[in-house]
Amino acid sequence: MAEESLGHLSPSARQAVEHLRELSGGDAQAYLSAALQLYDESTGTGDRELSAFADYHISIACFILCRWNEALYHANRSIETFRKTGNDFLVCRCYNLMGILFATQGDMALAVNMFSEAIDDADEKGFAFLSALARSNYCEMCFSGGEYETVIRVSKEAMKLYLKTKDDGERMLNISTLLIQQAGAYLALERYDEARAALQQLDALHREHPDFPEGLDEKIVRLFYDEKFAPANVDRDLAACIKCLDEIQNRNNNITWILKLMENLQSTDQTKYLAHVVDLMEKDLSKSSYPHYQLIVSKYRLDLCVKEKKSQEEILQELYHRIHLADQEQEQATRNFHYYLELQKKLSDEKRKATKMRLAARTDSLTGLANRRGLEEEGQKCFLDMMEQKSLFGIEILDIDHFKEINDSYGHEVGDLCLQHLGKVLQDEADHHCLPFRYGGDEFVILYVGLSQADIEAHASSIRVSLRTPEADLPLFTVSQGICLGIPPASASMEEYLFQADGGLYQSKREGRDRVNLVPFKEHEYRALIRQIH
Ligand code: GH3
Ligand code: MG
Repeated sequence: MAEESLGHLSPSARQAVEHLRELSGGDAQAYLSAALQLYDESTGTGDRELSAFADYHISIACFILCRWNEALYHANRSIETFRKTGNDFLVCRCYNLMGILFATQGDMALAVNMFSEAIDDADEKGFAFLSALARSNYCEMCFSGGEYETVIRVSKEAMKLYLKTKDDGERMLNISTLLIQQAGAYLALERYDEARAALQQLDALHREHPDFPEGLDEKIVRLFYDEKFAPANVDRDLAACIKCLDEIQNRNNNITWILKLMENLQSTDQTKYLAHVVDLMEKDLSKSSYPHYQLIVSKYRLDLCVKEKKSQEEILQELYHRIHLADQEQEQATRNFHYYLELQKKLSDEKRKATKMRLAARTDSLTGLANRRGLEEEGQKCFLDMMEQKSLFGIEILDIDHFKEINDSYGHEVGDLCLQHLGKVLQDEADHHCLPFRYGGDEFVILYVGLSQADIEAHASSIRVSLRTPEADLPLFTVSQGICLGIPPASASMEEYLFQADGGLYQSKREGRDRVNLVPFKEHEYRALIRQIH
């Protein structure tokens, strides 16, 4: 896990999380107990981020132990807290985890939504590894659902992203998983040359890493390929697949490929092998109660019963079992959907709050205009746009004349009302070519984006004219303005425009106030002055 994700934790909390991570590969029960203990300890210290870390690990441990609803509950709580503490990296990881949890239950639509959220977040924040991981999971969903074109597109994107990440030993494994999915997708689409190319890339990976074993998924995809191009190898491939299937620890993790194998065994009439796989999977899935996959496997069981000419009674029994599984799947799907809705609601509330806070940080509370920070962001964007489009960019600085006297004569509250009134006048003039900001004190800035000089002068004078109309209970006041205008050369900066607009404003003040001075942008002037100051 990248370092930045642990940024907020104290050294001792870091150690606790590292310890949990070490446990995650071993005995799941011990891993769960340690995570639960960490959660209890963290609530005592009030360290919310540490509680969320603990929740995240509790969820994974429950997932390994097939305690499905608990896993979902803790992932849900963890993602919510990480969203609040602003740990985007872990939010993204949690989305991935939630996606896997839904996928394991066969709830593909919800899983796809979770992975899409993870992809969007990771792309936005530039987390290459997480973005690749989410894409990889998304690919598996699409592969299992037969969306082969998407598998090809997304797996290529994921591969590119993985190549950007540090090679921590797992990278090769991740890339090979994608290549296997690609080969499977190409075969399903009968794009055999591309399937062959993907398998050749896999061969090359094996040559580079001789210790790297061929997993079940690779054995299955090679079987599919040989069925088409090397029938003599099929018996050997098949035996290898079944041997691997007999030996692997967690068959449920490989369910996507095992289902593809079952489908293949049925269509090629390999009844004996199919019966063996159905036996294995029935046993494994019933231990973990995954109704969705149990239901799929029960279809093969029923077909086998018919093929093996079982008694009507036995067939009926299978049918009842299948109906029971369908009911269970339905219940699980409803539960999942509720979890999903609840999560989406909480997260969109959090997102709304975050947007509100972001806006508040950019808004001046007295006038409601965007503030200096807003100007820095918005101004930079407009400035670069105009530079690219080679269009006119103008900055106006506007300052109230003798404002101190207003404060002194009428009081600060009336001064505030004057600032609010001016804010409203500027807001009334605003559109997307003319953007007002409160720069600070009695100074305002207006950005003119893509307007002609005549339009800008009209805007500036319209402000002074509006202020001549008396406003109830407010003293009349005037403003002085300085505008800098020009097409931004590639070497220029917005700060240079501001600096030169300020020169125009001082000229207006010197000339007697209540007027505007428009100065064409002069390249290098600002830097020459800065050099003088230094
Ligand atoms: P000039 O014509 O040269 O601009 O004269 P001025 O009196 O306006 O001078 P200056 O612009 O330097 O004065 C700004 C004053 O604005 C000083 C400060 O007390 C006042 N001020 C700054 N922020 C606020 C505010 O939020 N509310 C009120 N009421 N006054 C403010
Ligand atoms: Mg002033």
